[in-house]
Amino acid sequence: MTLVTHRNAPGEPALGLARQVRTFIDEQVIPREPELAGDSASASACQDELATQARIAGLWGLFYPASHGGKLASLADYLWVAEQEGRSEYGPAIFGADATLDTHMLLRHGSQAIKRDFLAPLLMGEAVSSYGMSEPQSIGSIPATLTTSAEQVAGGWRLNGRKWFICRADCASFVTVVARTAEGELGGALSMILVPTDVAGFRIERQLDILGRFTGQCEIAFSDVVVPRDYLLGQAGRGLALMQERLGLGRVLRAAHWLGLAQRCFDLMCKRICSDRGEMARLTEKQLVRLRVFQSFQAIAGARALLHDAAHKFDARLDNNVEVNLAKVAASQALSTAVDHAIQIFGAEGLCDLSPLSGIYRTARTTHILDGTDDALISAVGRRLLDAYATGGLLDFSTPSVPAGAVPA
Ligand SMILES: Cc1cc2nc3c(=O)[nH]c(=O)nc-3n(C[C@H](O)[C@H](O)[C@H](O)COP(=O)(O)OP(=O)(O)OC[C@H]3O[C@@H](n4cnc5c(N)ncnc54)[C@H](O)[C@@H]3O)c2cc1C
Repeated sequence: MTLVTHRNAPGEPALGLARQVRTFIDEQVIPREPELAGDSASASACQDELATQARIAGLWGLFYPASHGGKLASLADYLWVAEQEGRSEYGPAIFGADATLDTHMLLRHGSQAIKRDFLAPLLMGEAVSSYGMSEPQSIGSIPATLTTSAEQVAGGWRLNGRKWFICRADCASFVTVVARTAEGELGGALSMILVPTDVAGFRIERQLDILGRFTGQCEIAFSDVVVPRDYLLGQAGRGLALMQERLGLGRVLRAAHWLGLAQRCFDLMCKRICSDRGEMARLTEKQLVRLRVFQSFQAIAGARALLHDAAHKFDARLDNNVEVNLAKVAASQALSTAVDHAIQIFGAEGLCDLSPLSGIYRTARTTHILDGTDDALISAVGRRLLDAYATGGLLDFSTPSVPAGAVPA
């Protein structure tokens, strides 16, 4: 089975790494998925063991900054690897890919103290990062409504507020907190500050389930938490710009992992159709079954092309805001389509934990909300495309990107 069907085929070493990751996922991770989905103590022991093996195999942090251990400098090349990491819901954590975005952000914008206290252990797999933006009393899609505050006091920043649905907060060593550091214009009002989770005043309030399953999202609170002044990421008041920078890379990284899950659902569905059981029902001959195969394949192939487009523009440092949002929405749709069709073909078995499909189905639903809801992204892309016409122009599809300078999402 060839891994590459896209015109933007990767060179070595990306192809070699993608094959290695795929073998690791198929032979070491997928057989242990029931254990990884189990109660939290044994699941995290299993995850730690597999992460150690991934490190020994040289498969850890493959898209960390090239100067700090990453083996691939091009996002477009890494996409081939990320898809393979994403074939299991547990893959991104096992290969250290959950921390990729933070390694780039901390390296680019961190002070010496941040690099020493947070980045160094993160790169070694000795720390777990999390990101605290969403709040119970705020609208996630509208940063202007965020209320968590950070004020300058003697010795540093004092934070107060509450965040929720924070991934990995149950095991994180630190949280990058988006906090309000000034009144007035949103552009200068928000900042990002790193908060260690063992500092006085930090609390995990409760775990939050996602469609009935606990996967590490928590509500957390900060009561007069004080951290040193140089735990500020970048400059004070630049929080909104940093959020947009995070989302640009973060959406592509996540979407690549979702595409891997979608491809796995597609593989499972097609194997089932072609199995003895499928043959008994003569599934290959049914037009509706072929339609499900067609629709899943189309959704995956379309999302993959969009993701590569966004990644190539990222690598070329071109404006890729529209492409990233298109690709993120397309990857969500591909995953939802592929898992839904696969469940349909599996019948009742697809609905219970005898197959991985029920867990993937829950994950698929979340992808339409986290990292920017579909509705907000679609709305932002539509507005930006129309901007080209509002001034009497046309959108030239042959240009490398939509016109720069229009309002970003
Ligand atoms: C599994 C999971 C993990 C998460 N992990 C994290 C994390 O690690 N850190 C973190 O900070 N947050 C995290 N979140 C929260 C996530 O970022 C927010 O849920 C997301 O930003 C949406 O915000 P909201 O839930 O407040 O929804 P809202 O912004 O209130 O949106 C709700 C609905 O309102 C409508 N809407 C909103 N804006 C528009 C618009 N512009 N145009 C049209 N319709 C619109 C849409 O129907 C939208 O779905 C996670 C969420 C989930 C589900």
